Amino acid sequence: MTTLKRGSSGSEVKTLQSKLSLIADGIFGPLTEEAVKDFQRGNGLTPDGIVGACTWASLGVVPCKRKVDQIILHCTATPEGEEFSNAQIKASHLARGFSDIGYHYVIGLDGKVRPGRSEAVAGAHCTGHNTRSVGVCYVGGCAPRSVPNWNKKGKDTRTPAQKATLEKLVKELLRRYPGATVHGHDEFANKACPSFDVKKWLMEVGIKQK
Ligand SMILES: [Zn+2]
Repeated sequence: MTTLKRGSSGSEVKTLQSKLSLIADGIFGPLTEEAVKDFQRGNGLTPDGIVGACTWASLGVVPCKRKVDQIILHCTATPEGEEFSNAQIKASHLARGFSDIGYHYVIGLDGKVRPGRSEAVAGAHCTGHNTRSVGVCYVGGCAPRSVPNWNKKGKDTRTPAQKATLEKLVKELLRRYPGATVHGHDEFANKACPSFDVKKWLMEVGIKQK
């Protein structure tokens, strides 16, 4: 697949348009461009309207070229019992200069998976490991706000729903990326994140790794 943008035409444009549920006339005009930008926005890609390798991969037309061999777990480092939206996470990541939310998946207090950026693109969650990993983050990880210096007190605040979803999601990712290993952010950085012992948890949920 070649890179397509406004002005492109031909059979690959038709493929793109049918993937985006547009009329496949093979002409990349303003409507196609808007649809591409919407798709990119919704899939954690830079909404530039240009269909390159990442967008083709996210559309499911070509396999994702990124080789993933690590799954890295995080917490939002927010107070126990308080929800923290993807919009809030994204705002804090943009403030740190990232192009988008840094994680691929966020697990809310209710245990629902909230997709972040597309798995087809490298995340921004663990320096030196982003290109090869998928980043998963649960909301919480600190003591309740009522505790003095709560933000310096890491705590495993995972709700039963979050634990169940984390297990399901990590197992699903391992099926998709056979041989990948699972790590806490704390293995690679001087941080308390994700505020629980990942190795111990892996044993509890029956995930064996080297
Ligand atoms: Zn982290």
